[in-house]
Amino acid sequence: MDNQATNISFIICPPNFRISYLKSHSIDLGEPVRFYSKEDLIQGLYFSTKESAIVYLMEKYGFSYALAKERLNDLFFLPQVPIGNVRIDQLISIKADLENQQLLAKSPYFSQGFEGKFAKVIGYHHHDKELHKLAKILGLQLVFETPSQFKKQEVFAFSSIQSEVDYFFNAASELIDNGVNINDIYVVYNDTNYHLPLLLGSHYFQMPINLPSIASWGATPLGQMAQKLFNDGQDIGLITAQLKQDFAIEDTHTVLLMIQKASQIKGSPATMRRYLKALLDQTNVPAKVMNPAIRILPSPYPIKGAYVFVLGANQGVIPSIHRDISFLNDEERQQLGRLTSTEQNDEEEGVWEYFLKTQTHLYISYHLIDERGQAFASPLINRLNFDKLTPRPRRIEFGRQSADIKLANMLDLKRVFHIDNELIAPYQKALNVAYRQYDYRFKPFDMNLLEAKLRMSYSRIDTFYQCRYRYYLDYVLDLEPFEGNFYTTFGSFAHAMLELSNDPDFDFDTSFNLLKNRYFFSIRDKAILDHLKPDLIEVISFNDEHKSHMHLVAQMNEVNLKFALDENTTFIGKIDKILLTQLEDKRFAAFVDYKTGDESFRPDKLQYGLSLQLPSYGLLFKRDPRFCDVDIIGYYIQNITPPPINLKPKEDYAKIYHNKVRLNGLSINNVPVLMTLDDTLRNSQYLVGIKISKEDKFSYPQRVFSQDDNERFLETTLSHINNAVKSIRACDFTINPRRIGKDYSCSYCPFRDMCFRPNHAVAKIYIESEDVDDGAELE
Ligand code: SF4
Repeated sequence: MDNQATNISFIICPPNFRISYLKSHSIDLGEPVRFYSKEDLIQGLYFSTKESAIVYLMEKYGFSYALAKERLNDLFFLPQVPIGNVRIDQLISIKADLENQQLLAKSPYFSQGFEGKFAKVIGYHHHDKELHKLAKILGLQLVFETPSQFKKQEVFAFSSIQSEVDYFFNAASELIDNGVNINDIYVVYNDTNYHLPLLLGSHYFQMPINLPSIASWGATPLGQMAQKLFNDGQDIGLITAQLKQDFAIEDTHTVLLMIQKASQIKGSPATMRRYLKALLDQTNVPAKVMNPAIRILPSPYPIKGAYVFVLGANQGVIPSIHRDISFLNDEERQQLGRLTSTEQNDEEEGVWEYFLKTQTHLYISYHLIDERGQAFASPLINRLNFDKLTPRPRRIEFGRQSADIKLANMLDLKRVFHIDNELIAPYQKALNVAYRQYDYRFKPFDMNLLEAKLRMSYSRIDTFYQCRYRYYLDYVLDLEPFEGNFYTTFGSFAHAMLELSNDPDFDFDTSFNLLKNRYFFSIRDKAILDHLKPDLIEVISFNDEHKSHMHLVAQMNEVNLKFALDENTTFIGKIDKILLTQLEDKRFAAFVDYKTGDESFRPDKLQYGLSLQLPSYGLLFKRDPRFCDVDIIGYYIQNITPPPINLKPKEDYAKIYHNKVRLNGLSINNVPVLMTLDDTLRNSQYLVGIKISKEDKFSYPQRVFSQDDNERFLETTLSHINNAVKSIRACDFTINPRRIGKDYSCSYCPFRDMCFRPNHAVAKIYIESEDVDDGAELE
C-alpha cells in the first residue's frame, strides 16, 4: 500500500473517521485530500433525497420520521421493475412515486473524475460488496489499509461499570501526573450506561472531559415552547419573534432554523407537527466544549500519539451487533447486492480489529456485572487472544471526592451485608467522611425568591400542601419535566370534545375523528381512545339532558381567570365549565371540573390546604369584575371516564351509567335557587347526594352549603394560598408529606427515590367523615 500512497486521490471513509484520519496523517495542503463516504458515492451515483421527501412519506404513507428515513435509505440498488417480492416491490413503487413528485435529486456529472484514480479506504471492510460495486461503476481503484505490525494488548476486567470508570479516571490522572498532555487522552464507549458515571467522575476527579450531549432540543423549554407555538398554528414570523424575545436567541439558533425549515416544506398541519417534533427530538443540544480536556474518540481509528481508553469492551457492545430485523431481511438484501446483517457485523468487527491492533497507547477494559446481570468480554478480545487481567487494588486515589464516596460505600457494605474490606482502615485514616450523620431535613437557604415573580395555580398550591419539599423539587428546581401520557392527552382531547359539543351543529363522529388526528395518539392509544368513545357519548348526552332541566342563561367553557395576590404574585386558573343560571334578576354560578380519575371535593380537607381546587375557582370567579355580583351555587366534579360497571341481573346499564357521570360535589342549600340548576331536586337525577325530604329539607346535609359556608371556603382558600406564597418566598421547603385516609402524598411522587424522607416525617391526619352515607347512589 505504501508505494501506492502517493497516488491516492481520495479517502473513502465514514464521516466520523475524517477527524481521526487527519489527526494521524500529515496532509499536503497544496493538494487537498477529498473525502467521500460510501453514502456520498451512492447518492452521487444514484440520487439524493430532498428533505421534503421525508415529509411526503410521512404524509402519504403515515410513516414516522424514523421510518420514512429508513425507507429512503432502502431505495438504492433496486431493480427497475417489480419482481414479485412484497417489500422490494413496495420500495420500487415508493421510489417511482418520489420520482414523479420530483423529490429525488440527481447529479449528472458526479461520476466524472474518478476513472483510474486510487482511493484509500478506511472504516469499511475490504469485503464491502456495496463499496466494490460503486468503485467498479466509477472506475476507481480501492486501496484498503492493512496494519504493518500488530500489537498484543492487555484487557482489564472490572466487577462493575462504576469500578471501571473509577479505574479510568485514576489511570488518566496518573498519565497526566507523568507528563502526558490531557488533550492527548481519549476515551471511547458504546454503552450509554457509561455516560452518567463519566459525568460524575469528571466532577469528583476535577478532570474535564468533553462528553457528548444526550439532551435533545425537544426536551428543552425552548424546544417545547417552539412546538407549542408551531402546533397552535401561529405565523412563523411571530413564533420567531416570541422565541427570540423569551429565550434571548439569535436568528441563527438551531431551533429557529428548524422551524424555518419546517415552514418551507409542504405538508398538512398534523404531519408538519410530527415532523418538527421529530427534528427537535433527534437534534441534540451541543455540549459545552472544554479545552484542555479529555476527549471522546471520534471513531475507532488509531490516532498517532494518543492515549486511548476503551471502556465497556463487552459482548454485543464493542463491536456493536447488527441483527436481521430491518425492513428488508438478509435474503432480500443479498438479492439486491446490499450488505446483510452478517456482513455488516464483519465490517464492524474488522474496523475494531484494525484499531485495537494498531493504536499504540491503548487501555481496554470491560465489566462483569451490570443492571442486566452477568456481562462478558467481547468475543473479539477472545479471538485476538489479548491477555485478560484482573486489576490490582489501587493504593493511590487521585479523586478526593470519589475516595470519600468509595469509603462510604465500603462502610455501607460492612453495615448492611457485613462485608469487610481491608481498605477501610487506611481510607479512614486518610479521610474524614461524615458517614450517616445527615439528618435528612431540609435546611432553608436564600434562593432569591423574596421578590421573584410567581404565578401560582391550584396545582402548585396543592403540591405545596402535599409536601413542601416536593414543591421545591418540582417547581423551584424544575426537576420533573412534563412528560405527557395517554391520559394527559386524552384529558385535553375530552375537554375539546366537550367544548365542541356545545356547538349547535355538533356531530359526534365528525368532531371525534377530527380531534383524533389533531392530537398525538399512537396506534395503540387510538385503540384505547376508541374504547373510551362510548363514555364520551354518554357524558355529552347526559350534559345535554341536564341542560334541559336548568334555567341556563349562559355556559362558559375553558374559562381562564386570574387575579393579583400582591404586586409580584398572580393566581391563575382555568375552569372547565361555568354554568350561569338565573332566578328573577339574580344570576348564579356553578363550576364543573372534568376528571378522568376518581376525585371529589372534600371541604373537610380544606383546613389542611387540600381539596382547594374548586374553592380556588370560586375565588378566581368572585375576584373577576364581571362576576363579583354572581352567587356561587355549586362546586362539582364530573368523572368523564367512570370505572367499569359490574352489571347485576335485571339492572339497567344506561341508568347506572347515568348515575356515574352525575355532578359530584356540593350544592347551595337553597331549594328555589338550586332548582335553577336542576329541576329534578326531589330526587336529583343530575347532582350526586341531592334529595329533598317531605319536610322540604335536604336529606344529606353534608352535600350542601350555605352562603356563609361559602364565604368560609373562600377565606380559608385565600389564607392557604397566601400562607403558601409566604413560605415559598421564605424558602421553607420542609419535607412534610401527609397521609389522609387513602390519600398519601408520596404515593405517586416522582421524587421518592431521591428525597430519603424518614418515616417520622409523614404526618398522619384522620378525618372522621371518610365513609358516611352521602346519598351517592341514585334511588
Ligand atoms: S416522596 Fe414524599 S416526602 Fe419525598 S418529596 Fe415526594 S412527597 Fe415529599
